[in-house]
Amino acid sequence: MRIDVITVFPEYLAPLELSLIGRARERGLLDVRAHDLRQWTHDVHRTVDDAPCGGGAGMVMRPEPWGEALDALLDSGEGAPRLLVPSPAGRVFSQDMAAELAAEPWLAFACGRYEGIDQRVIEDAAERMPVTEVSLGDYVLFGGEVAALTIVEAVTRLIPGVLGNRDSLLEESHNDGLLEAPSYTRPANWRGRDVPEVLMSGHHARIARWRRDQSLLRTAQSRPDLLDRAPADAFDRKDRAV
Ligand code: SAM
Repeated sequence: MRIDVITVFPEYLAPLELSLIGRARERGLLDVRAHDLRQWTHDVHRTVDDAPCGGGAGMVMRPEPWGEALDALLDSGEGAPRLLVPSPAGRVFSQDMAAELAAEPWLAFACGRYEGIDQRVIEDAAERMPVTEVSLGDYVLFGGEVAALTIVEAVTRLIPGVLGNRDSLLEESHNDGLLEAPSYTRPANWRGRDVPEVLMSGHHARIARWRRDQSLLRTAQSRPDLLDRAPADAFDRKDRAV
């Protein structure tokens, strides 16, 4: 997968050189390119923002550098990327959306700052490539870079070969609409607290049942909205006893 990130702070993307994403890049599974938006400015101050039309606080990102940046992106590869524009006004990111994006060959991120990007940039881009405004959640960040990092992590770990053991994807929170059961490792007793006995029993069926029950309980306690949204056939007779 190719990933381009356009930002006024390319340094913010440094974590994409580390850990499993860094390794996937070295192995050629990911081609990640961070671009400084200011390279598409033409004034001495390399200006990317201006006062909002209609007045109000803060500054808005000017359309011209963004237009040129996205033109350059289109000229740099085959076809067009799927453009993601982080915004608190976008579609809320989820594991389902991560799976949808993991099937794309090319993603690009337009990271806003200040009060955001002139809306005409998004309208213009949408005539040339698929565009999705995407929100991390109902809060406001300084810029889109952290959203891009989050989305890149969630998406790329679903790409075959990026994660060492793909089985861990199956058991994770949100994969089946529920939260995962709590995890434990050795020692069996730590500061007077025991690992739940069943997990040390070696009895696979009992362990699976315990994990399923814990998953249901944890979801009911922390995220009852997930249970409300789950289809009726997501539960079996034994689940209903929990
Ligand atoms: N004025 C905008 C509004 O009220 O919708 C907020 C702008 S915010 C200070 C600056 C940039 O941070 C946005 O353009 C976006 O790129 C990013 N951002 C802020 N909150 C975000 C969120 N919840 N999800 C994704 N991106 C976000």
